[in-house]
Amino acid sequence: MAGGTQVKSQIEEIEPFEAAQELEDGGVVLIDTREPHEFQEAHLEEGKLVPPGLLRDEIAAAAPDKSARTILYCRSGNRSYTAAEEMQALGYENVASMAGGILAWQEQGLPVVAAEGMSPEQRERYSRHTLLPEVGVEGQLKLLNAKVLLVGAGGLGAPAALYLAAAGIGTLGIVDDDAVDASNLQRQVIHNTERVGMPKTESARHSIEALNPDVDVVEYRTRLDASNILEILEDFDVIVDGADNFPTRYLLNDASVRLRKPVVSASILSFDGQISTFVPYEGPCYRCLYPTPPPAELAPSCSANGVLGVMAGTMGLLQANEVLKLVLGIGEPLVGRLLLFEALGTRFTELKVRRDPGCPICGEDAPEIPQSELGKFPDYELFCSR
Ligand SMILES: [Zn+2]
Repeated sequence: MAGGTQVKSQIEEIEPFEAAQELEDGGVVLIDTREPHEFQEAHLEEGKLVPPGLLRDEIAAAAPDKSARTILYCRSGNRSYTAAEEMQALGYENVASMAGGILAWQEQGLPVVAAEGMSPEQRERYSRHTLLPEVGVEGQLKLLNAKVLLVGAGGLGAPAALYLAAAGIGTLGIVDDDAVDASNLQRQVIHNTERVGMPKTESARHSIEALNPDVDVVEYRTRLDASNILEILEDFDVIVDGADNFPTRYLLNDASVRLRKPVVSASILSFDGQISTFVPYEGPCYRCLYPTPPPAELAPSCSANGVLGVMAGTMGLLQANEVLKLVLGIGEPLVGRLLLFEALGTRFTELKVRRDPGCPICGEDAPEIPQSELGKFPDYELFCSR
């Protein structure tokens, strides 16, 4: 063909079993042309990582001899083909691309060096996570080692628990003293019709275990109170607040600030929802926003008021999103931000919220709590009905 300055050279493509044979015979340089997180997940034993974007800079170090037999592979065979073309242009004389990449290699039952700490089942289950550079195998292992406590297995806790379980949060604690009621099923999707009457923690455990055997469920069939809260919270990294009453919310706030545990807090009512993430001393706490609870007769409760079922899913999943970011240490959690969702107009509004210097719990003049007083809290039932 006329006009081209350079005729595109044909690259030799070889099948995985041919590559395996050549590797066994020796004298081959094997180049992995993928991204570092993919390499980390699984690679061929002798593969040297040279990401596509760094080929020009790094290939000389990985493959110093331009006349040596060099085999390239990637995930499915496209990137390695392109890289082989580039190498040929750089003067490499004997390059081949492995057709079908590491996927075809594995399909043929050939061995790979896989990320430590994850079983083959886990590598498969979490592959859509580990493919994300922001998560990777390292991030997935963080999730598998994380301990998250759900306060309430109701509207918010149900969807949050399902997605956190699916994401591979290794330990999920669930505090709830209720049993499944038929009126819960319109929004509490972790429960089902057959389980009406069953304790919610037990019903949630059944659903989670069926979804993901990697998750260890710890049931607390109780109501959080001043006598048990520190002991329960202590073991967990992040807390999801789906409490349906103010005494529990205030108690949870005060205890979590003392223990410096982050709390992802949300609430829903009719068509409205709100969510914020409280990281003690980094942003405001619940009390900075709501110094005192509303009078009891004005305190909304889902049992007495209506709520659109999907509100629970929407806000509960936003909570799960916050938890994953906190555990992974990525993104921007809702610290110092209150996000409001209005379902009828499908509108999100974000409000900046600040620490209150006069906050009785996290403010500058808040009293230091001695160890002996750590488990002593005000009587929130009284406080809330004032
Ligand atoms: Zn505060």
